[in-house]
This record gives sequence, structure tokens and C-alpha cells, in this order.
Amino acid sequence: MGGRRTHVRERAGPVLRSLRQRLARTLRFSPGGDDPAQLTLVFERPPRDGPELLVRLRALGLTRIATCELTANRRTMVSFRGGALRVHAGYLDAPEPVLRAIVAFVESRRRPDRDRARRAIIAYCALRAVGATPVRRERTHPDDDLLALRLQADHAALNAERFGGALSTIAVRVSRRMKSRLGHYAPAGDGAPAEIAISRRHIRRHGWVDVRDTLVHEMVHQWQVETGRPLDHGPEFRRKAREVGAAPRATRRVDPG
Ligand SMILES: [Zn+2]
Repeated sequence: MGGRRTHVRERAGPVLRSLRQRLARTLRFSPGGDDPAQLTLVFERPPRDGPELLVRLRALGLTRIATCELTANRRTMVSFRGGALRVHAGYLDAPEPVLRAIVAFVESRRRPDRDRARRAIIAYCALRAVGATPVRRERTHPDDDLLALRLQADHAALNAERFGGALSTIAVRVSRRMKSRLGHYAPAGDGAPAEIAISRRHIRRHGWVDVRDTLVHEMVHQWQVETGRPLDHGPEFRRKAREVGAAPRATRRVDPG
């Protein structure tokens, strides 16, 4: 019986694979393409090794790579030479936008495209680093992973654009507990790395322009700590906030309703 089922599965494999690829193409061009629920429909489980990851990446548009090898080297997230791609094993269960970034990183001919892809790849690395740390801090709810990823990419972009790349890459997560505060910067402590948390309620109610403003505000706090200044809303905070284009206000109530 077991043998027969395996046999059936083997024969159904190519059909399912082409169906999945067609679905993936449809999703790529549909407005709802970023809906995590839809992505779950496409792939039932993450790839388990280099060759499986290669199949997935090819379905997302990778063409110039012949082999894919997983690495555990902390310094290498993604690298390629000729037709040989090396990807850190931590990317096996990365969501589709991150896999697309890997494809873009390899295939892009324009520097800005490749830089954008690199930022998304790095952002995911930072996101995972927090998930792997056993601390009591709240973690991003799995359903908010894509929001956190977007915040993480914005953090990298804003750091480059407004802070001259001076800030370090830290995790940005989404908080479901935060009700009255919009965002929060926590310096490293108690074995936990520094992080920025953004209120999910804020994201849902006020839109991304406001959220980016909050993110820049928290990044000014990050700048304070990383340059040895006190963490406050004093004159230096306000000067820096003006310099990088953040609203100088400290907080804004999230009105119920
Ligand atoms: Zn503040």
C-alpha cells in the first residue's frame, strides 16, 4: 500500500509542479499577490535542500543558475559565481518575496535593482536572527511576517537615504500588544538584541506614510544609543529628527475607533 501511494505521488509530481508554477505566475501578476494566505496555497512545504530550492527559484524566474548549494557560513547569505549559487540554509523557509529578492539579486543587470534585492535579503536575515533568540520579548505574529519584512526593508532604505548608512541593521517587528504607542525602540539588554517594534494597530489605521514617519522617529532613538547619547526627546533629539525629516512629536495617541 505504502509503495503504491508513493508511486502515485511520483506520477502526480510533475503535474502538481506545473500547476504550482502556473499558480505562482498568476499570483505574481495579481493584486492580491502579497496575501500570505494565497501564498500558502501555492507551496505546501518549504524546500528541504539545495536542489529543491533551485526548483523553487526557477519557478520564480531564475534562469542563469545550474546548481544550488546550501551553506551554514554566517558571512554568506547569498552568493553566486558562474552557474553556481550558494544560499544560507536559513533561507529555505523564507517567504516568497524574499525568494524573489534572491532571484532578482542573481538576475538583475541594473545596480539599483540588485541593491534593492540585497536589502531585502539582509532584512530577512535580521528578522530571522531575532526569531532565533530565546528572549521573553514579544515576537512578530506569523501572519504579520510580511509587514515586518516590509518594515525591515524600509529600515534599510531609510538608513541609507537619511542616516548615511550609519545605523546598524537591527530587527524591526510588528507588535499586536502595543495599543497606545505607535512604535518603540529597545536597546540591547538582558541578552536580547536591540530592536524596533511598530504597532500593528498603527499600521492598519494610519497607512504606510505615517508608519514610515514613526519608523524614522524610532531610528533617531537608535541613532542616540548607537552614538552614545541619552535616550530621550531632548533638544538633540529634536534637532536630529528635523535633520532626517521625522516628525518631532514624541507620541500620538491611537484613538480607539
Ligand atoms: Zn520617541
